[in-house]
Formats: sequence, structure tokens, C-alpha cells
Amino acid sequence: MLTQLKITNPATEETLQTLPCDNESAIIAKLSAARTAQVAWAARTVEDRVKVIAKFSDLLEKNKEDLARTLTSEVGKPLQQSLNEINGARTRIGFFIEQSARHLATETVFEAKGRLEKIAYEPLGVVGVISAWNYPYLVGVNAVVPALIGGNGVLYKPSEFSTLTGLKITNLLYEAGVPRELFAPIVGDGGQGAFLTKTAVDGIYFTGSVGTGRKIRQAISERFIASGFELGGKDPIYVCEDVDLEKVVPAVADGVFYNNGQSCCSVERIYVSESIYTKFVDRFVAEVKTYKLGRPTDEGIYLGPLTRDVQRAVLKAQVEDAVKKGAKLLVGGKETSVGGKGYYFEPTVLSNVNHTMSVMRDESFGPIIGIQKVASDAEAIELINDTNYGLTAGVYTPDAARAEKLLARMNAGSAYWNCCDRVSPYLPWSGRQDSGLGSTLSHIGIRAFTRPKAYHLIS
Ligand code: NAD
Repeated sequence: MLTQLKITNPATEETLQTLPCDNESAIIAKLSAARTAQVAWAARTVEDRVKVIAKFSDLLEKNKEDLARTLTSEVGKPLQQSLNEINGARTRIGFFIEQSARHLATETVFEAKGRLEKIAYEPLGVVGVISAWNYPYLVGVNAVVPALIGGNGVLYKPSEFSTLTGLKITNLLYEAGVPRELFAPIVGDGGQGAFLTKTAVDGIYFTGSVGTGRKIRQAISERFIASGFELGGKDPIYVCEDVDLEKVVPAVADGVFYNNGQSCCSVERIYVSESIYTKFVDRFVAEVKTYKLGRPTDEGIYLGPLTRDVQRAVLKAQVEDAVKKGAKLLVGGKETSVGGKGYYFEPTVLSNVNHTMSVMRDESFGPIIGIQKVASDAEAIELINDTNYGLTAGVYTPDAARAEKLLARMNAGSAYWNCCDRVSPYLPWSGRQDSGLGSTLSHIGIRAFTRPKAYHLIS
């Protein structure tokens, strides 16, 4: 198991900090302390727990400049995008503050002479939350906030690429009034994560790659504990011939390249009606050429470095594979740097792509996109559903009836009409196939960290 975690700035390649990691006995001690603290926390009212979370949200607002700088320093996203993420997290927390008491209240579902039937939503106990680095505030909030409001203790394992942010989140929760023993960060890499899944936690909620998701599912397969898996994607968008390209191209390009394409719901495949294909591609390339790549702390930068150096080799291999199979490389295609440093990759657009190419099949998680021509709605649907993933999918067309028919046939957890790369706290966030299992957000996500108790009361 890792003993020292070195945190690197992906823009400058400098070491930011070296942190001591948790070992096995420290993790077991944290679990035991959380178990004791959880009893008192669960005895408090939902309204009381919500108040603590509301204070946490105020602290995020108060400290957001400092938090954004820390996030940018360890993951490399432009400062404005770090601020956007913190603001977005506060919006989600606002949803939980507003809706949790209603959805966690005990429900009377049947009442007749002498018989009362009720459902109560009880906490699970102590849950493990294992997070990805790409949106530590957003993916953290999706799990940590409803888990705490639901009355649980949490062992929180931030990604090794966003641990400084994970520790800042932890400290602000403490400042807001979350008891220290109740919420414990676990510092380390996949070794610590794997150990956490083998402890006696009452649930595991994971956000990360499909490969790690599979390992965790296997690790907990002998125990009947709660779990949630929010995994990768290869999210498609279909652009019909009747759109206004001036509006649609910038929106779709932003869906591809925001956060350097490192979003679970980044647009990763574009299908375009053949009659506008050439126009769309030309306009798209022109849009991408306006993007400013540079140091993420500099004003007006849209693309910073990738968070992880290793991903550049994945992107390079996808470009090589596509070009070898007949794709046209229109812009980008290679690694770059700023001042000789940083894990940068040029924004990359490929046309003439097809489904024999990795760029149209495997998650890229970087600033790269393939644009494929389609002859009909039927072909678009066939290609959209020709995937092992199923996180989001969408269509751009002014024709509501056509959109409705298309969305109904897309095999994805979220369906977008005239939008992409978006998450709403009011709606469940869930993947199909390899994109995951279970839901966060919405009333379903509020209850995901509880277990129902059925009361049969005969008087
Ligand atoms: P990752 O799987 O490498 O790591 C995620 C977390 O798992 C980290 O904290 C890591 O330390 C831990 N981990 C690694 N091995 C483990 C093991 N064997 N047992 C337990 N924990 C282990 O993923 P990542 O690179 O951090 O995140 C990127 C991936 O996450 C992408 O595929 C992206 O699409 C996905 N993601 C999905 C969503 C969603 O909502 N569906 C949101 C964000 C990111």
C-alpha cells in the first residue's frame, strides 16, 4: 500500500505537497470511530442535519477563491472552470437542502380500520465514498451530502489526483459542524480504495472508471451491502439537418472540450446528417481554433493541461488508429506544452471516422472528437446505441416530435434535446450498461443512501 502521496501540478510538473497515506490499521480505526459517531448523528433530525450542510454550502461560497486555486493547482482546470464547479456544487447542495426532509420523511402508504402501513427511510450506517478527480466538488456532493443528510457516517476516499481538494472539503464540513469521527478522509491511491472495499462498511458508492468499478463489484460481491457505480461514457450527439449551425456548433464544441473533455458526460461522438456534414465540420473546426490553450491560472484560458500525463498516450493512440483506418485529422492530434512544461494535448478533431476506430468506441477522456456522417435517423440511432456505455445521448433539431421519437430509442440514462453535457439535481444521474448502476441526485439519489423499513401496524 502507498505510504507517501506526491501531489503534482499538471501545468508546471512541480510537486505541490507530499502527504502521508492511511495504512490498514488507520482505516479500520476510522471506520470504528465513524460507527460510534453515526449513532448520535442518526438520532438528530433530518432538519438539523440539513442545517449543518447549509452551513457547509455557505463556507464553500466564502472560501471559493482559495478552493478554486487549490483545485486548479492539482487538476489543471482553468480557474474560471474551478469556480464554476464550486458554484455548481452549491446549486446541487441547494437542491438537497430544499428537498431532503420531504423525501426522507416517513410515508403512510395504507390506512384502514385497525391497520396502518408506513415506510421509514433509515440510514445505512457507515458508507465508503470513493471519488474520481475530474469534478471533486460535484461528484463528492452527489454522494457525500445525501449520505450525511440521510444520517450516515462516511469514509471518504478522494482521488489521488484531487486529494488536496478532498481535504479542504473535509475541513469545511468539520467547520460546518459535521463531527470529526463521523466523516473521515482516507488518503492514498487505489490500494487504500481497494482496502476500504474489504472493510465492514455498510455501502460503497463509487465514481470512476469502468475497470475499477468492476474490481469493486467483485470485491463486495460476497456481501449484501448497498452500492452505487457512476462510471465512464462515450456520449453521442446527433445533429439533424434542420439546425441553426451558428447556435449548435459552439454548444456542441463546448460539450466536447469543456474541462478538456474530462467529464463523464463530455460529448465523445458526433453524428451529423449528411446534407450538412461538410458545413458542420468546417464550422466546428473554426470554433475549435478559437480556443485558447495555456496556463490554467491565466485569464481567458479555455484549455489547461490534462490532469494525468498517462492519458496523452491514450489520445495519441486513438489518433494514430483513426488515421491508419482512413480518418482525416483536421486539427490538433499531438501532445504539446506551455513554457516547455505541462501535460497538454492539442484540441483534436477527426472527420471520416467510423465504428471500427477506437476514437468512436472507447472513452477518450480528453480533448478529442470524431465526427461521423449519417444518412438517416435510423442509422443515427443504430450508431448511437452501438456502444458498451450508456450515460447520456442527445439530439439537436428544432422538430420536437422527431426529437421525442429519437430520445425514446436512445439507450442511455439521460436524454438531451438541444443541449448536452449537463446535469440537473432534480433528475436522476445514472448510467446504463458499462456506465454504471444505481442513481445519484433527484429524490431517488436522496433515498439511495437509506434503506426502507416497512411498518405493519395493527391496532
Ligand atoms: P479511477 O477508476 O482510476 O479512480 C477512481 C477512484 O477509485 C480513485 O479514488 C482511486 O484511488 C480509486 N481506486 C482505484 N483502484 C481501486 C480499487 N481497486 N478499489 C477501490 N478503489 C480504487 O477513475 P478516475 O481516473 O479517477 O476517474 C475517471 C473516470 O471516472 C472516467 O471513466 C469518468 O468517465 C468516470 N466518471 C464518471 C462519472 C459519472 O457520474 N458517471 C463522474 C465522474 C467521472
